[in-house]
Amino acid sequence: CVRVRFAPSPTGQLHLGSLRTALYNFLYAKANNGKFILRIEDTDQTRKVPGAVESLCNILQWASVHPDEGPFSGGDYGPYVQSERLHLYQKYIENLLQNGTAYKCFCSQKRLDLLRKEALRNRETPRYDGRCRHLSDEERQDKLQKGIPYVVRLKLVQLAEPFEDLIYGPIEIDLTENEGDPVLMKTDNYPTYHFANVVDDYLMKITHVLRGVEWQLSTPKHLMIYQAFGWTPPKYAHLPLIMNNDGTKLSKRQGDIHVEHFMKLGYYSEALLNYITLPGGGFTKTDSDVLKLDELVKNFNLSTVKRTSGRLDPAHLDRLNQMFIQRKIADGEINELTEKIRKIIMSKYSGNLSFDLQFDDLSTEYLKQILCWCQNRISRLDELAGSDFEFLWLKPDKIVISNIDISNPLEVLQSCIECVRNMDAFDESSVGSEMRKNAKYMNVKFAPYMKFLRMCLSGMKEGPSVGEIMTVLGKSKTLERLKHASC
Ligand code: GLU
Repeated sequence: CVRVRFAPSPTGQLHLGSLRTALYNFLYAKANNGKFILRIEDTDQTRKVPGAVESLCNILQWASVHPDEGPFSGGDYGPYVQSERLHLYQKYIENLLQNGTAYKCFCSQKRLDLLRKEALRNRETPRYDGRCRHLSDEERQDKLQKGIPYVVRLKLVQLAEPFEDLIYGPIEIDLTENEGDPVLMKTDNYPTYHFANVVDDYLMKITHVLRGVEWQLSTPKHLMIYQAFGWTPPKYAHLPLIMNNDGTKLSKRQGDIHVEHFMKLGYYSEALLNYITLPGGGFTKTDSDVLKLDELVKNFNLSTVKRTSGRLDPAHLDRLNQMFIQRKIADGEINELTEKIRKIIMSKYSGNLSFDLQFDDLSTEYLKQILCWCQNRISRLDELAGSDFEFLWLKPDKIVISNIDISNPLEVLQSCIECVRNMDAFDESSVGSEMRKNAKYMNVKFAPYMKFLRMCLSGMKEGPSVGEIMTVLGKSKTLERLKHASC
């Protein structure tokens, strides 16, 4: 049975790239009838950020990327938080010390710093020189008796063959060239990332490791640890990097990169999930498809993940969110949208007196009408709370009528009211042609006439056409506003 995991370190807010890793693991598990596990890798206590785990779980919940096993979902292989598994690492490090693949290193920080400085001076890569590998039993005993603190290091060996990356193909990285023996266990008895990661993947029976390509360099080290234990490693697939639109490393400089930011702005999680699947591939969908989560599962194919890094274009996210709204309307899920809009508008205008006047205009019927009209204009529902759409919720202020360019405004308004009252069809084009006729009849130029009506209906100098405003408001609200302006 396929078992995959998402193994974040709680060092801050969740990054778009990490959500992508979680999603691909989730999709791979679901597509293969497997299990998706959440494991918190918090062995670096100095980098731990309070609240990061909760916020991460919130995000996964929001995105419906639900773990089958994890700190809050339980499971047979827990605990799923590494700081609660220290006894296990202790036990497994003993195995390696006993079988001679690891050793205790007593070198002081001062010595290591000197080694490092010397290497840098000689323009060499700093590496541990392996001194404690060769300690005799007596020397070791002596240091232990003196209570000298130690770390445990792995004896680096050359891997017999390149490893097979399911995405990048065979990868050969010779660690013995560059790195000294890596630390597995620190002086404070905390394991390093590499050691805990391998022990947990093994104990949690992980079959496939899907993670960002930035971890590819670590994989040979992990394979060496498997080899030291005599365990069979999982299969590895490294996912290409996500970059900014200009090809630079994804960074806050070019817009926010934290999932929470998009969540707060009111994007649909599905839109964001589709967005982060664009760079990197893995799907047979086109870039203009917006798929629901179960469709992403059906569509996912690990073998089509690209090897090259991909770019994120924020404009595309807006487009996807708009498509998702349109899709919901087309799929008959409009009531869910109207509920959301009602909440957004209520929280924007609550306590506002003018809003109280319009409160009953939040009827589902009216909101549906608005949605059908604006589905091509907005990319997020909360845009409806912006100033461009204020006319939908608030009656315009009367004062505006005094600033217009028409000599007999009240008569014109009366005649317009009559004209609207007599209209049967109330679609955009009939409204437009009736208004044109009315302007002629009242002997006013069409442009100022329409400006005047827009003012009366919306309080706006610029904006949607009068025909659009009237049709979205509907006949009775149009009449109401025209009358309101005339008294
Ligand atoms: N804890 C690592 C991270 O923060 C996990 C890397 C891996 O998946 O092995 O991304």
